Amino acid sequence: MQKDKTVFEKIIDGEIPSTKIYEDEYTYAFLDISPNTRGHTLVVPKKAYSDLYNLPENEIENFFGTVKKITNAMKEGIPCDGVNVVINNGAAAGQVVFHLHAHLIPRQTDDRGYFGKKYIYSDGDAELVAKKISNKIES
Ligand code: AMP
Repeated sequence: MQKDKTVFEKIIDGEIPSTKIYEDEYTYAFLDISPNTRGHTLVVPKKAYSDLYNLPENEIENFFGTVKKITNAMKEGIPCDGVNVVINNGAAAGQVVFHLHAHLIPRQTDDRGYFGKKYIYSDGDAELVAKKISNKIES
């Protein structure tokens, strides 16, 4: 029997809308729908490995290569002073969507933390920040 698609597979397949930042053969990056800070991005492998435990060796570079690319791009693109890179690995660690993803959470020096915060975009600003990040991604 075919396994149900994860919400992130549906996004990758265009069945659910997303604000896309980057895509290559192995990975897809898009804005988190419920961001902690402006520009909060998720990076996912296109194959639905449930978590970091199940990411095969030969996908490590593909996945973390994209994580680094976008982290770098955020610095000047947003701009931001730092980026929290977070993987909630397993239910006990707060993982809700069981399709591996890294949260890239842009930070400013005096922002007083991100945990538990919710950022609300004004009209058009999500698309703008996504473009600002993607414009700075180096190939
Ligand atoms: P985690 O707790 O690490 O599993 O986080 C899952 C993340 O996926 C949360 O930050 C959600 O806001 C995010 N998320 C869930 N559905 C969507 C969606 N349709 N588009 C963008 N982000 C989503």
